[in-house]
Amino acid sequence: MRQSQNPILTGALALALLEKSKIPKPTARGTRFRYSSSHGCERAQAYAALGAEITEPMDESGAWATGIGTILHELTQAEISKRYPSARHEVTSQTGDVSGSCDSLIDVNDVGTNYGGTHVLWEFKTMGGYGFDTQVGWNRMRSIFKPQGAQGPKKGHIAQAGMNALGIEREANAGAPWLEHDSMKPVRIETIIMGAVTFEALSKQKARNMGVLGLNRFVAEFEIPREEWEPLARYELSIMEDIGEKLNHGILPDRVGRDDSGGFTDLRPLGSDWQCEYCSYRSTCLDDGDGEIMVENSVAIRSSSGEA
Ligand code: SF4
Repeated sequence: MRQSQNPILTGALALALLEKSKIPKPTARGTRFRYSSSHGCERAQAYAALGAEITEPMDESGAWATGIGTILHELTQAEISKRYPSARHEVTSQTGDVSGSCDSLIDVNDVGTNYGGTHVLWEFKTMGGYGFDTQVGWNRMRSIFKPQGAQGPKKGHIAQAGMNALGIEREANAGAPWLEHDSMKPVRIETIIMGAVTFEALSKQKARNMGVLGLNRFVAEFEIPREEWEPLARYELSIMEDIGEKLNHGILPDRVGRDDSGGFTDLRPLGSDWQCEYCSYRSTCLDDGDGEIMVENSVAIRSSSGEA
């Protein structure tokens, strides 16, 4: 037996996804910021808003995780449509200089009036075992539930879905064309449904020990009430607005990220912060140095104008 170091057949889909990942994805409405950057590094968001060159493109495994996630989104959306024909997918909206699209928007008369309001918004994330176990509160190794319980979806993801919800509500109630044939106006979203799927199902034996049944071995769904998602979404919009204001005044923001609970944290491009590990602008950020700097002095601008 010889293990090939060049898996030309088995890696075919991964290579296709890598090629696809090289095509830049514009924001939903051509805005400078996107809802999906929620809780992202402020400086990285500014680089993206400036159209800075990507110095660290996605690698094979990043493109694989993202690409498989997109495929699962599309297939799940198709199945949702079969069960709930009122579902609309990838509904876009814009709030100031921020835009994005929700995964699905479904009439409550179709999916369940117990959710309140007129529609539910569904946001879906695929993730590895660690992220999933944190959400559902499993200690998989020991086949027990963690004492602190289920942590639920990341606050940044709830804020992202909430920004979509607020944008869709506002545009729909102002007469957005996509609602023209809907019987229910105005739109009011009381509940956001956050979905999580992992590729590593809990083993049958562990599931039996923990009393976890069926789909719940690898699928989780959380219902987020409005009083929880709305403040997160409004706060996040204000953060993105502040980044935009800094850029308007020629200032590139500092290296500030957010932790899982939404607190601000200083980032170090050469440290162990995962945001920097996966950042597309790491080299530019390193060259620009610490602290707020003037945009005109940024390598991002000097290199795009041929100066650097
Ligand atoms: S390298 Fe880190 S600090 Fe710098 S822009 Fe990227 S995420 Fe932000």
